[in-house]
Amino acid sequence: MKTSVIGYPRIGVQRELKFASEKYFRKEITADALNTTAKSLRLSAYEIQSRNSIDFIPSNDFSFYDGMLDMAFLLNVIPKRYLDLKLTELDTYFAMARGYQGKSGDVKALAMKKWFNTNYHYMVPEIDDATEIKLNGNKPFELFSEALENGIKTKPVLTGAYSFLMLSKYAGNKDKWELSEKIAETYIEIINKLGSLGADWIQLDEPCLVRDMTKADIKHFKDLYQKILEKKGKTKIILQTFFGDIRDCYADVCSLDFDGIGLDFVEGSKSLELVREKGFPNDKTLFAGIINGKNIWKNNYRHTLDTVSELQKICADTVIGTSCSLLHVPYTLKNETKLPESQKRYFAYAEEKLSELAELKLIITSHSPDKTNEFIQNTLLFCRKRTEDDTAVKERIAALSDKDFSRSPEFSEREKIQKRTLKLPLFPTTTIGSFPQTEEIRQIRASYRKGDISEEKYENFIKAKIAECIELQEEIGLDVLVHGEFERNDMVEYFGECLNGYVFTEKAWVQSYGTRCVKPPIIWGDISRAKPMTVKWSSYTRSLTEKPIKGMLTGPVTILNWSFPREDISLRESAFQIALAIRDEVNDLEKNGISIIQVDEAALREKLPIRKSDRKSYLDWAIPAFRLVHSGVKPETQIHTHMCYSEFSDIIKEIDDMDADVITFEASRSDLTILDDLKENNFRTEAGPGVYDIHSPRIPSKEEIKNSIRKMLLKISPEKLWINPDCGLKTRGYTETVASLKNLVSAAKEIREEINV
Ligand code: GLN
Ligand code: ZN
Repeated sequence: MKTSVIGYPRIGVQRELKFASEKYFRKEITADALNTTAKSLRLSAYEIQSRNSIDFIPSNDFSFYDGMLDMAFLLNVIPKRYLDLKLTELDTYFAMARGYQGKSGDVKALAMKKWFNTNYHYMVPEIDDATEIKLNGNKPFELFSEALENGIKTKPVLTGAYSFLMLSKYAGNKDKWELSEKIAETYIEIINKLGSLGADWIQLDEPCLVRDMTKADIKHFKDLYQKILEKKGKTKIILQTFFGDIRDCYADVCSLDFDGIGLDFVEGSKSLELVREKGFPNDKTLFAGIINGKNIWKNNYRHTLDTVSELQKICADTVIGTSCSLLHVPYTLKNETKLPESQKRYFAYAEEKLSELAELKLIITSHSPDKTNEFIQNTLLFCRKRTEDDTAVKERIAALSDKDFSRSPEFSEREKIQKRTLKLPLFPTTTIGSFPQTEEIRQIRASYRKGDISEEKYENFIKAKIAECIELQEEIGLDVLVHGEFERNDMVEYFGECLNGYVFTEKAWVQSYGTRCVKPPIIWGDISRAKPMTVKWSSYTRSLTEKPIKGMLTGPVTILNWSFPREDISLRESAFQIALAIRDEVNDLEKNGISIIQVDEAALREKLPIRKSDRKSYLDWAIPAFRLVHSGVKPETQIHTHMCYSEFSDIIKEIDDMDADVITFEASRSDLTILDDLKENNFRTEAGPGVYDIHSPRIPSKEEIKNSIRKMLLKISPEKLWINPDCGLKTRGYTETVASLKNLVSAAKEIREEINV
């Protein structure tokens, strides 16, 4: 029995790579210094894996920014605009990742997209007719040799050719699959070169196989691999899949000349059934993903051992490993100094998952019933209930009935009432919630947390900020005002801290993109609202202005999706528990005279299942969870929601079904294509597609915004259109924010006049 890891975290236990990279970007350290940090992170990852006697230790899983970007670089998929900057290799790479503005020119970064159903983002490679696919650079070879020099023979990891082409954007006139030949040749060259350096096994990641595949997709996949495998030499190739099962192409994968096939038995709901029913080729090794690479709970050994023993009966050679790269979990529990042992013992981060693999290997190979029992007893303890049920919460959920999920009167009725009571102008202007978070605000929040300043002093500071923010918005002339969210560190953590049932970590950082990390809290037990969360700030804000203000909350699906979820109860149940807590807050805001309440669902789209057939069961609880939040408010109270990621063409009906009164979303970067979908589907919720992109400091001109509004009016009827930026302003500076919002307000005013004429 051998063990394998698909990929290891790379940002550094203390986020060393993040800090070194950011210093490099600010020109405070040299490329050599950055490389030194990177090398020591790689070596310590190898060391820790070898200490846990992992047999297949990955290399080339390290990246300065993103693995897909590395692959693009290696295949020479580098758009000309970056080469024209004539920078060093490393700086060209970073220009693709982050954009470049300086002496050599001004270019935007490559597009960035969510990596399947995770909160990780990859850079989208851009291929055009001028792209010349060929081997470029040495990274996988250098990293393989570096590990070898340090006594470790690794398994180099590359993004597979099929997923690379599938996920790339093709800007040319030809069919992108015409590149298959060249791509295959280059992969062969890479494989042979690694083989000649001594690599025995190479892992090719093909996550696109877990998506729904058409016949044409399968053909492209097979064509590519027939070409590659024909010339792979004696180096063994693992086709590695993760994030689901490969039900559409299992037989095809088995029929190709791979030496190993990696399947995910954690998220792949059909993986076991596929092996059981279709068998497994006896000339190949099965790499069975049985340790969850996405969550932080200890493994249930009994369940795992049952699965492995069934697999061993069918497969001649089985290797056990992680279900996906450990990139998606934090490094190590060792740095969680504040969590009590009574909680920590339930968790396994990346390093602890390595010891789980080592233990499982020991159990399986020892054939010692005593040993096995001892381990199983240990883990069983952690699979049992951790906490007492919160009976009040359980009873509340049990008592829910249909009417708790539907608001009355129905939408069109409410729309009329709200037009009458809120008296907003045509094309109301507003923002998404946060205003720029300056260094001063961050510091005051930190000092308050540390206990360096008193609660009173802190509250007065926040109040002063809110007052300034209201004054600013009145001066700009916005119609619906916000308090600015100065009291919030993060849109999930802030709420989590006011809820019972959450656990917060100190160092559980997970890479989100590039040097950006997130620290998702852990849902430990049943959730309920410990205390009102926002009422104080919203009521204070209301006292400052005659204009309507928007209360600002994060929705249940987003809070759940950006946390490490429980595995002992369903996601649905957790979502409903959180929804009830947010519902209490919504009702309290209403009681305190807040007539517009926004419930952000920034991450609702993110966890939409990869396969179409699984989507219904997700939407069947996600949409009701949102409805549960607001079904108790009066018809006059206007409920808004916001989504960051506007790729929701295929779930437009469900979004309408959330039954919010207004939705704002990101649209400016997707060329407003979403508007066609809204029109086609007779979208009834009032909508504010962002009129400008807040992810850049660029100030949009009034004319530019007017043009966007005119385009929107072709698809959305005037009485349903709101005018707003595409997301919160917290990452922006004040200068560009004020200028942009002034242009936004004048643009809306002028279009109102045009319409009235
Ligand atoms: N209300 C939040 C803000 O403005 C929304 C953030 C988000 O969508 N990610 O910051
Ligand atoms: Zn957003």
